[in-house]
Amino acid sequence: MKNKLFVMSAASGAGKTTLKDLVIKDFPDIKYSISATTRAPREGEVNGVHYFFKTKEEFEKLIKEDGLIEWNEVHGNYYGTPKSFVEKTLAEGNRVLFDLDVFGKVNFDKVYPDATGILILPPNEEELEKRLRGRGTDSEEVIQLRLANAKKEMEFAKTKGKYEYVIINDDLQRAANELREILKKKD
Ligand code: ADP
Ligand code: 5GP
Repeated sequence: MKNKLFVMSAASGAGKTTLKDLVIKDFPDIKYSISATTRAPREGEVNGVHYFFKTKEEFEKLIKEDGLIEWNEVHGNYYGTPKSFVEKTLAEGNRVLFDLDVFGKVNFDKVYPDATGILILPPNEEELEKRLRGRGTDSEEVIQLRLANAKKEMEFAKTKGKYEYVIINDDLQRAANELREILKKKD
């Protein structure tokens, strides 16, 4: 299972979606795992592309039916990883890239302990705040919640998380190249 499953985690706004979008097209054998969430779609987000957008009731049904590898409440919404896609993709001989919060990753590891963990860090807190604001997708209240959570998440990731790689996303192209080098590893 080594180098078949890659889990990216980051504080919100660190740039992992940007990095993922930049790099994944270079790896036809790596499929992105689309998470289920109860969060409302941001402008431009498409159901079944960025997330499977669910009501709370639909999400709870998924949990009950054992349809998720892991799930967690993040910034006040549920997020979870559908099981069937991962099993199907692996059976087809392909690999999978995940975007999970740092606590969800711990539960993910219980199912797939060999997954490669990649922690994406912003250069500093000021830049993180600047990026969250610059993205222009979240209300002030949501930005404040995400910044407050960022501190706890990064503290947890650094002390208790299992991340083989840490990428500082200062220069985007350099960070993207670091991610490419990690995803190139096949055995
Ligand atoms: P995440 O998925 O980690 O929440 P995003 O990929 O949405 O973060 O990025 C947050 C914002 O920061 C976006 O507006 C994005 O364009 C910008 N961004 C991402 N990486 C960089 C970078 N290396 N330098 C400057 N801005 C960046
Ligand atoms: P966003 O709302 O910015 O898209 O994502 C918020 C947080 O949810 C990010 O930290 C992201 O990594 C996390 N996340 C996205 N999908 C999942 C998932 O399937 N499981 C878990 N545990 N976290 C997820």
